[in-house]
Amino acid sequence: MVTNRKLHLLFRGIAILGLVLPCRLSASEPVCKDQFLYKDASQPVDVRVDDLMSRMSLEEKVAQMCQYVGPGHIEQTMKRFKGKKVKVNNDANAVYPNLPVGKLLEMVEQGMVGSFLHVVDASESNMLQSLAMRSRLQIPLLIGIDAIHGDALVKGATVFPTSIGQASSFNPEMVEKISRDASREVRATGSHWTFTPNVDVARDARWGRVGETFGEDPYLVSQMGVATIRGYQGRVEGRYDVLACGKHLVAGSEPLNGTNASPMDVSERTLREIFLPPFRAAVDAGVATVMAAHNELNGVPCHMNRWLIEDILRDEFGFRGFVVSDWLDIERIYSLHRVSASKDEAFCSSVEAGLDMHMHGPGFLEAICLAVREKRLDEKVVDRACRAILEMKFRLGLFEHPYVDVEESRKVLFSKQHRKDALEMAEQSVVLLENRRGILPLDKSRFRKILVTGPNADSDAILGDWTFKQPDENVVTILEGLREEMGEERITFYDFGSDVTAVAPEKVREAARQAENVDLAIVVVGENPLRYQKHKTCGENVDRMTLDLLGSQEELVEAIHATGVPTIVVLVGGRPLGVNWIAEHADALLQAWEPGSLGGLAVAGILTGRVNPSAKLPITMPRHSGQIPLMYNQKPSHNFHRYVDGKHTPLYPFGYGLNYSDFSISDLKLSKSKMRETDSLTVSCILKNNSRVKGTEVVQLYLRDKYSSVTRPVLELKGFRRVEVDGLGQQTVVFDITPDMLAFYNRDMVKVIEKGDFEVWIGTSSRKQDLQMVEFEVE
Ligand code: BGC
Repeated sequence: MVTNRKLHLLFRGIAILGLVLPCRLSASEPVCKDQFLYKDASQPVDVRVDDLMSRMSLEEKVAQMCQYVGPGHIEQTMKRFKGKKVKVNNDANAVYPNLPVGKLLEMVEQGMVGSFLHVVDASESNMLQSLAMRSRLQIPLLIGIDAIHGDALVKGATVFPTSIGQASSFNPEMVEKISRDASREVRATGSHWTFTPNVDVARDARWGRVGETFGEDPYLVSQMGVATIRGYQGRVEGRYDVLACGKHLVAGSEPLNGTNASPMDVSERTLREIFLPPFRAAVDAGVATVMAAHNELNGVPCHMNRWLIEDILRDEFGFRGFVVSDWLDIERIYSLHRVSASKDEAFCSSVEAGLDMHMHGPGFLEAICLAVREKRLDEKVVDRACRAILEMKFRLGLFEHPYVDVEESRKVLFSKQHRKDALEMAEQSVVLLENRRGILPLDKSRFRKILVTGPNADSDAILGDWTFKQPDENVVTILEGLREEMGEERITFYDFGSDVTAVAPEKVREAARQAENVDLAIVVVGENPLRYQKHKTCGENVDRMTLDLLGSQEELVEAIHATGVPTIVVLVGGRPLGVNWIAEHADALLQAWEPGSLGGLAVAGILTGRVNPSAKLPITMPRHSGQIPLMYNQKPSHNFHRYVDGKHTPLYPFGYGLNYSDFSISDLKLSKSKMRETDSLTVSCILKNNSRVKGTEVVQLYLRDKYSSVTRPVLELKGFRRVEVDGLGQQTVVFDITPDMLAFYNRDMVKVIEKGDFEVWIGTSSRKQDLQMVEFEVE
């Protein structure tokens, strides 16, 4: 039995050895001949792959399909569990009980491991690559990491706003830019592959992972997903390019009971209209990898769903990269879903269904090799997988440059440029939901004494999920941002700690007492997504039954408001909350989501008016969990009958968000009133800024088919533009309307455009009162 202590020593020893291994290797005779064709960087990639594969044994090929967590990760897990048994390999905790770390590292030297995940620093990456360089064929490792909004599992990285905030910007160019920044940080720390973008279309606010999605609309999710892929991948050729991963195929984002990985029972129509389009867009954008979803889909676990992976993803969409499993989900085909009678059978079913890489752990290699030898599995499937993985390793230049410069990584992380971009992204991601009596932007001469309080006021919760603890000096909390923007002398802070579930009633009374002596109160409440803290309330595997503020947070806001002091509420967290009372009473309300490292400065900048807010909700905010699913692109009968115990309307609609300018839209004009199925037309409008304050409005284009052979959504987003307009200025905004925007699946599930009238709605949110309409006819 390897004890925690022994493992620690072993790992340390190997890590030290690892640092000197590269030079040792170069001094000794390489095991594999440099004149082999695949070693020649001037050869085309396919020639190199063919040559390499012709030299590989079956085991070596299957080994490319095998991934393990890094030894440092194992060490951390053991530390966290302090020698106790790790209950489940869940929540990113992993140990391999029958595979000591030393043995795992030997396997790398023998070429029996193709990939690692969760290797969190450059030295560890170098150590692992140096072992791979000792293997017979010297195939470098492909190292993956969940760099979801920056390389945030790495200490010292820039943490950008989470995806839901990025989507709120409606700014794909900015999302591409920060993804590019993140790709440099990922490569600098020795990883080559990120498990992002999450292109799940989020239709259930109870689900803890909403924050890592781009919201509820397939078009917006597709645009943001593509921007992320472009930013990370470049052309998959340079030393700064990182493989992206479209995940999770498919539909886990409207789970049956709101909990992660619960079943999904969904019609092919909804799959094709809602959940699959972002994957198609990702494939069209050249996404290198795709990850299967935890959930079952209509009775078949996604990890063994041949229809999904082979028929749809590969044959129909033309995907040419490789498909990776999610954390232990192949094993769950047997242990949870019980669709295979053994783990080995599950491995085979999965590979047969089109899966190329196993995340993560032992058993897979032996099971697949045996199945091939016994002719239960065609070796061609293994060849296809191995080929796709090797191709990416060649394209990324790993054969030429397996190592990273540890010093260089220190310079790249949290660089000045990355900080600047993180702040700009955050400023574009915070949604202003209420601004009563023009309280914002704050008038410094009126508000001389300000109370800042609430559990998220001075909390790292702004970093979001998929983050590990970052150095304090790299995080500007909302309190710190306010001190910087408003001046320290104005601010009194009343600390509740950062546990959103433990706001004590006596402290609520004290906060209210302090509110009586100030001119303004800013209360920061919401959720806690931090996976390194015990009291997290949103994020992966942290789902909720209700959408109310947890604990006594609402009581805190009510008590402060009751004193009569103007009260501003800032929500931090990854899911929409049903904050009805606050929406009705607060003087201002901001949905800050999880704005990242410099999020505090962004929030403060908006409050003071240094920044004119421009973000819009990428997801409907329901009033109550009982309304779920509630989305703007609902079918006509969705709310035909009403609830007896509450309103059917959203608290805030998709596309909604205020700013400090005063925009109006007028003069909607079509280039023609009739179009043929093969034609296109344009629609234009004038966006006018009626205020003197320069601002940015997100002009949104929605379409509706008036009458159709199957029911169609009441509105569908088909375009958007972020338009900056000077004070008292105006701009003409033009959208193309092309035939593909009008197409849908008819009763025979054939994609068609039907003749008849279409409504074009243009405006500043999906709410009817914010939209104007013109009609055209398809002849
Ligand atoms: C998540 C994936 C993630 C993987 C690796 C899983 O639990 O569902 O999204 O990429 O872990 O950390």
